[in-house]
Amino acid sequence: MSSARTGDRRSGLPIWPRLLALAILPLVGISLVAAPVIRDRLAVADSARATERTVATLTQVFELRYALAEEMIPIEARLRVGGYGLDPRLASAFLGFDIENAENTSRARVDQLLAQLPADLPLRAEATETLRDVRRQADTEGVAAEPVHDAYSALTDRFAATTDELLAEAGRSGGASGAEIHLATDHLEQVSALIDAAYDERDQMFRLVAQSLTTDVDVDGATRALVAAHDRFHRSFDDLRAEGLAALGTSLDAIAASPEAAAFDDAVDRAIGETPTAGADAPTTSQLAEIAGAFRASFVRADLLRDLASTAAAYAAAETAQERRHATDALRDVVLLLLVLGVVTASGALAITRSITGRLHRLAQRAQAVSEGVLDGPAADEGGPREISVVAGALDHTVATLRHIEAQATALARGQLDDPVLATPGAGALGASIHTTVQELSRAWREGEELQQRLAHQANHDLLTALPNRKAALEALDHALARANRHGDAVCVLFCDLDGFKRANDTFGHHIGDRILRECGQRLTAGVRGGDLVARLGGDEFVVITERLTTTREAAELARRLIAVIGEPIELDGVSTRVGLSVGIGMSLDGHATGLDLLRDADNAVHRAKKLGKGRYEVFDEQARDELALHNELEQALRMALESDELTLHYQPVTDTVTGEVRGLEALARWSRDGEPVSPAAFIPVAEQSDLINDLGRWALRTATTQLAAWAAEGHFPGAYVAVNVSGRHLLSDGLVDDVRAALDESGLDPGRLVIEITETVIVHDLITAVAHLEAVRALGVRVALDDFGTGYTSIGQLWRLPIDVLKIDGSFIRHLETAHDHVIVELMIEVAHTLGLALVAEGVETATQQATLRDLDCDAIQGYLIARPQPADRVTIAPG
Ligand code: C2E
Ligand code: CA
Ligand code: CA
Repeated sequence: MSSARTGDRRSGLPIWPRLLALAILPLVGISLVAAPVIRDRLAVADSARATERTVATLTQVFELRYALAEEMIPIEARLRVGGYGLDPRLASAFLGFDIENAENTSRARVDQLLAQLPADLPLRAEATETLRDVRRQADTEGVAAEPVHDAYSALTDRFAATTDELLAEAGRSGGASGAEIHLATDHLEQVSALIDAAYDERDQMFRLVAQSLTTDVDVDGATRALVAAHDRFHRSFDDLRAEGLAALGTSLDAIAASPEAAAFDDAVDRAIGETPTAGADAPTTSQLAEIAGAFRASFVRADLLRDLASTAAAYAAAETAQERRHATDALRDVVLLLLVLGVVTASGALAITRSITGRLHRLAQRAQAVSEGVLDGPAADEGGPREISVVAGALDHTVATLRHIEAQATALARGQLDDPVLATPGAGALGASIHTTVQELSRAWREGEELQQRLAHQANHDLLTALPNRKAALEALDHALARANRHGDAVCVLFCDLDGFKRANDTFGHHIGDRILRECGQRLTAGVRGGDLVARLGGDEFVVITERLTTTREAAELARRLIAVIGEPIELDGVSTRVGLSVGIGMSLDGHATGLDLLRDADNAVHRAKKLGKGRYEVFDEQARDELALHNELEQALRMALESDELTLHYQPVTDTVTGEVRGLEALARWSRDGEPVSPAAFIPVAEQSDLINDLGRWALRTATTQLAAWAAEGHFPGAYVAVNVSGRHLLSDGLVDDVRAALDESGLDPGRLVIEITETVIVHDLITAVAHLEAVRALGVRVALDDFGTGYTSIGQLWRLPIDVLKIDGSFIRHLETAHDHVIVELMIEVAHTLGLALVAEGVETATQQATLRDLDCDAIQGYLIARPQPADRVTIAPG
């Protein structure tokens, strides 16, 4: 599995945020629903707090208002007494209270209360300033009481107005939920009205008294005002008591039970009842005492009323505070509830998420590990939601299956084909199909091993005879030489070349030929000793390598024995046949040679044996070395001859079997060395031992094409081609195609008039290169002829694969054309060539009979001494007829 694909699968969010979101969703819902409630509670709490503040201010203003009224009393007393020309101290004694002291005390109290007012209350600054003016006025020498009284009244009225404003505000902010506050502020309002009435009553009372002492007085008006104030006070008082309020009850009762209040009441009643006479005599002492008593009683009643005011204010404050507490408590409860709900939901969600995601995460990790090939992790854990358990179980199951497969793969990889794990199928369909595959694999493995063994054997063994092959032989030889080199021992190589095998093969067919080779291999093996090596080099060539012979004489003995053994008749399927053996002996007495050298020595020796008459052995000796020296000398001379232009080309015509017209001319190299002609059979093989043959080929191509171009220019051999022999070495070299192209360019010859002749041995040697080069040559328009066909290894069946245009039947078949065997072969060759669209040339035609037979067999063209021998360019003629 590719990591890229795994990566794809990993993309996307992990599951926990989704689960968490799912769990938190209700929480969000709760919050949405709760938000207005909280907002509402907050508003209530806020308003309660505001009301509390308002009521607190109200209480202060309330108190200040009466304190101010109290301040006015001693001042008024002082001024009025002064107005009568009385000494204030006398008046103080008379009234029973120290006017001056009362004035100071009440002023200090007002100042204190003013300072306590909230700074943001506009009344504070305003009252402070006005009070300063009023007091200055009151302290002015000889000022009248009336204007001062009015100034004080105006100020208290201002306070009364503020009280009303604050009361309204407290009532408003109390809202729907503040019923208690409403009640409290209502009472406060009532108390306020009551006290107002009380002050008014007292005020009117004193005014009436004071006016009765003077001459110009509107007694009736004063009396009417006092009656109104008196009634107002009593109505208010009765109303308030009728409410039966527990909070104010005590204070109200105290006023009702107060003898001073009753005394003042009586004094008022009397003042209303007795109509004073304007301009009457000065009051009597008893009258004055009565007035003073009323004064004192009014002060006591004022104290009681202030008490009532304080109680009402405290009550209102307590109510608002409680309301505020209720509101904040409710708010706290709601918030607390939400908090608890949130915590419960969140922790529940967290717990669920963790319980699921934790397991999923472990599962994912495990699956990941499995995908990475780690199978030895812990088993998936138990519990959790059932689906997860199922997946975990499946994963365990998969891991078990994979472990099994892994074990099978390990066994396979180690080649432990007998491991019982391979015999047991894994669980499920996958296990079964893997098992089948494993079985297939192990079978393929076994077969592969066997094949490999066979191949290894084949690489070193000859398929046909099962003997070691050429490669193995050379290796063995090198090892033997290395050993011999160390110990100073001899190594002997017997190159065994069958005589007459080709003929037997041709006569009885490949099948019998193969059996002959096998038989010979067995006979050779039987003919040597243990420790000796018999190998087949290829074709009908064998080699014997032995380390136990120390002299050429011993080697010759072995060769003789082997020749005798092979020479015995071979009985196959009731047919008796016979092959011979030529042996070349190569020997290293001290191991100072390479395997290739020794093999070549033996090869050379066997060639000499063959040349000298077959069925015999030859030892590579001094004579062979001389031949080698001769070879080198010849090569040197040939090289110089080529350079100094001592070589010439002779041309042998190829004529049409029917018309006798010259179809082509084969160019054959000729060398006259010091006036003595050297046969191509002698110098061509020498040239082929080195790149000299390439030079020779290049020269032949150039010379032949130039010659034909010259003939063509003179009108000779119209339409004929020139055939140039190209050696295998040259064909396989990279230069051939260029050489051919260069010859054509240089000569200007039509490529269609050039044929190159190659022998089939070359093609067999390196088929791929040979075919590639031949195709390149043919691409130039040049034709290719397969020379000496029938002598090499190419079977007729292989012909169609080769890039050739002309088939040249070897002269050896033509020589024995009269024999039934060769006649059939030649007939077959011609038929196949025609089938494949190849042109035919029969070589070595020496007799008219041969010519006639070939004509009968439909052979296209012939070449041979009968028509013409190879001749120098200036003397090419063909025999008439
Ligand atoms: P080859 O290519 O098979 O040439 C034909 C050989 O048969 C020639 O021998 C030719 O003289 C000979 N011959 C022609 N007609 C008859 C006949 O009726 N009876 C008999 N018994 N022989 C006949 P040659 O010229 O001695 O050449 C021998 C071989 O040397 C050639 O065999 C060819 O393989 C090689 N050779 C010759 N010239 C060149 C050359 O320029 N380059 C290369 N690479 N090889 C060459
Ligand atoms: Ca030839
Ligand atoms: Ca030939």
